[in-house]
Formats: sequence, structure tokens, C-alpha cells
Amino acid sequence: MRPEICARCDRPTDEPVVVGTEHGASAGGRTTYACPPCAPSFPKQVNPFTAVAAVRRTRRPGRSRLTGWA
Ligand SMILES: [Zn+2]
Repeated sequence: MRPEICARCDRPTDEPVVVGTEHGASAGGRTTYACPPCAPSFPKQVNPFTAVAAVRRTRRPGRSRLTGWA
């Protein structure tokens, strides 16, 4: 998992939060990310813990059932 650029402050974040997805014929679908501090400023966001958990699952396969990592 590489750092993503926050769509709000244009800085890379190691814990990107998915704040939206675009799907158009030309773009082919892309995901918008934000850093945790900026994420609440977006009108439509997913649960930040879901995104973080997904990242950690990718990094540490086999520990996906463990909770309380955030
Ligand atoms: Zn930000």
C-alpha cells in the first residue's frame, strides 16, 4: 500500500480514507482519498475504520479477524 494524496490538502497520507469514487467513460473509475484529519470535511465519506482495516489486512494477511488495531 503506497501513500495516497489527500484530495483536500494535497499531502501524502499513510492512512488514506476513501471519501469518494468517480466513474466516467474517460476516467475509467478512480478513487478519491483524504487524510484522516481532512476526511470529515468531505460531504460523503465511508467509515474511516473500514478503510484503515482494509489497508492493514493487505499488509498483514492472516490477522484480519483481530480487532482494535486502529
Ligand atoms: Zn488532508
